[in-house]
Amino acid sequence: RSKYPGGNRITLYSKKMNEEAFKRLELESYLRKALQKHEFFLCYQPLIDLKTGKLYGSEALIRWNHPVLGLVPPGDFIPLAEETGLIEEIGSWVLKTACKQNKQWQNLGMEGLTVSVNVSANQFQQTKFVKEVKRALADAHLEPKYLTLELTESTMLRNIDHSIEVMKSLQKLGVRVSIDDFGTGYSSLSYLKDLPINTLKIDRSFINNLSLETTDIAIVKAIITMGYGLAVKVVAEGVETEEQIKLLKDLNCHYAQGFYLHQPLTAVDFEKMLLAKSIS
Ligand code: C2E
Ligand code: MG
Ligand code: MG
Ligand code: MG
Repeated sequence: RSKYPGGNRITLYSKKMNEEAFKRLELESYLRKALQKHEFFLCYQPLIDLKTGKLYGSEALIRWNHPVLGLVPPGDFIPLAEETGLIEEIGSWVLKTACKQNKQWQNLGMEGLTVSVNVSANQFQQTKFVKEVKRALADAHLEPKYLTLELTESTMLRNIDHSIEVMKSLQKLGVRVSIDDFGTGYSSLSYLKDLPINTLKIDRSFINNLSLETTDIAIVKAIITMGYGLAVKVVAEGVETEEQIKLLKDLNCHYAQGFYLHQPLTAVDFEKMLLAKSIS
């Protein structure tokens, strides 16, 4: 019997830590090369106007297809991209690509189609951020009103005064600003009234179990009512059932997005869907 009963566990534990550190380093080195190697692509998840049932736009969602690791979900590499500063280049690629793609679809006849792009905290806090947005729009010849930038509450609150300035400049440009994952952050209602935003996007955790039997309905109803009060549009993300759609319609929620309506689609599949809609 060992004098140090925990000894073995400590060895195992540090071995595990080493493995994790190694994996992280490996992931980081792959991530550094991913842009040049064209391993990223965007999927587009449709947003539906609940009043008309028509397509309103899409949310661009990044995908990373690595030859060894396979498809790495954004939740596994966006935080690392943030920590390493790689997010600046990746984010700017997403912006450019999404704007160009949306313009191409508008040119196919979907004139009012909008696109939403997720912006992470470090990307948003860069001094050149607004300039980059302008450049992406200009390069794509996309009118600013067709671009929505999705920011989370924690992104905005990191440096609230600066964030408000940036959001104001974006709105002056004509770009729309949306609060993503609304309800999961910790922004107080007093902030909300000062934030220059156009849209609230209710987090999918409230929508996923939405039914008349859960208390989520009360929260969702309150957020939608507040949206009307603040004169902003409300989007529900994560809609997975017909019943949820019906409830959201009854509550006069403006837009919905979710697996029940559409999965995120590759650009090719999104375009097929557009063409199918335009003939029907
Ligand atoms: P998000 O912006 O809240 O995006 C919505 C996420 O919910 C997407 O996951 C989408 O596939 C998923 N989703 C949509 N409908 C449903 C549904 O009905 N049920 C369920 N269970 N999930 C649904 P995804 O694509 O894995 O993205 C995860 C997060 O990664 C995003 O959350 C966003 O925060 C981040 N992200 C994605 N693309 C980008 C990007 O280009 N830049 C940055 N900075 N972040 C991104
Ligand atoms: Mg989003
Ligand atoms: Mg979201
Ligand atoms: Mg989310």
